Amino acid sequence: MSDSMKKRVALTADRPTGRLHLGHYIGSLLSRISLQEEYDSFIMVADTQALTDNFEDPGKVIRNIHEVCKDYLAVGIDPSKSTIFIQSCVPELFELTSYYMNLVTVARLERNPTVKAEIQQKGFSDSVPAGFLCYPVSQAADITAFKAELIPVGEDQLPLIEITNEIVRRFNRIYSTEVLLESTAMLGTTQRLVGIDGKAKAGKSLNNAIYLSDAADTIKEKVFSMYTDADHIKVSDPGRVEGNVVFAYLDAFFEDNEELKSLKAQYQNGGLGDTVLKNLLNDTLQAILGPIREKRSAINDGDIDDILFTGSDKAQKIASQTLREVRDAIGINYRG
Ligand code: ATP
Ligand code: MG
Repeated sequence: MSDSMKKRVALTADRPTGRLHLGHYIGSLLSRISLQEEYDSFIMVADTQALTDNFEDPGKVIRNIHEVCKDYLAVGIDPSKSTIFIQSCVPELFELTSYYMNLVTVARLERNPTVKAEIQQKGFSDSVPAGFLCYPVSQAADITAFKAELIPVGEDQLPLIEITNEIVRRFNRIYSTEVLLESTAMLGTTQRLVGIDGKAKAGKSLNNAIYLSDAADTIKEKVFSMYTDADHIKVSDPGRVEGNVVFAYLDAFFEDNEELKSLKAQYQNGGLGDTVLKNLLNDTLQAILGPIREKRSAINDGDIDDILFTGSDKAQKIASQTLREVRDAIGINYRG
C-alpha cells in the first residue's frame, strides 16, 4: 500500500485491573467502535502498566486480561478490524521507554495532575514506585511505537498525552528526525463519568462503577444506591440537579434531551421523586447493558488467546520497525 493510501492510526489501552465499566464505554469504547473502519486501530491491554501499582498481585492483572478482551468483543470491537494485543508481548515498547526516559524530568512527571491524584488515591505518599511515576513515559512508547495520531480517551488521559507530545518534540529535535508523530486526544460524549458513590471518577481501582458485565439485579441495586440530593426528602421538596449522581448518569446515557430537560426542571421545582428518576435510569441502563451482557456470555473462551496472540504478533512487527527507526535516529544501530 502506498503511503498516501495508508490509514491513520488510532490507539488506546486499558489496564487489566478489573472488568470494563460504563466510564470506559462512554469515555472511550464508543469512539473506538466508530473509528474501526476509518482508522488502523490498535487496542492494547496494558498489563505491564497495571503491574506498576499491582506488582504484589500479578494474578489479578493476568486474570483480567481475558475479562477486558471479552468486554471489547461484547461492545462490538471487531478483532478483524482492530488489532487487540497484550503490552508485555511487545518487549520493544520497553526499549523505547528507556530512550524516552532521558527526555523527561522527574519534576515534570511529579507535576502531572493525573499521576498526582492517583498517588494520593493509592496512598503511596513518599513510597511511589519508580515504575508508577514513570508510566506516562511508557505510555509515550505505546503511542509512538504505532505512530498513533488519534487517542480516544477519557479526560484523565489529557495530561498524559501532553507528556507524550513533549517527548515526541524533544526526540525529533535532539536527534534531528521526524520519526515520531504527535497525537491528539479524542474525548467521548462524556469526558469523565462520576462514580456511583459521587466521587469525581468511576474507576476499576475505586470499585465504584457499573460494569458492562454486571447482572441485571446488580445494576438495579447500584442505581438505587446512588446519591441524589440529601435535602430532597419529600417528593414535593425542590431538588438539586448539580452533583446529583442520577442526573449525571442520565446526562450520559438518556438520549431524549428534551425530556431530560423537563425532568430536571420538574425536579428543581419540586414534585419529582427519586424513585421515578432511578427507575428511569435503571430502564435506560438495562436497555444498553442487556445486549452487551448477552453477547459477552456467548463468547467462546477458547477464542480469546487466539485473538490476543495474533494481535500481539502483528503489533510486535510494527513496534520493532519503529524501534529500528528510533535506534537509527539516535545512531545506535551498531550492527546495521
Ligand atoms: P484503574 O482504576 O485501574 O486506573 P480505570 O477505571 O481508570 O482503571 P483505565 O484502564 O485506567 O480504567 O482507563 C482506560 C480508558 O478508559 C482511559 O482512556 C480512560 O480515560 C477511560 N476512562 C476510565 N474511567 C473513565 C471514566 N470514569 N469516564 C470516562 N472515561 C474513563
Ligand atoms: Mg485509570
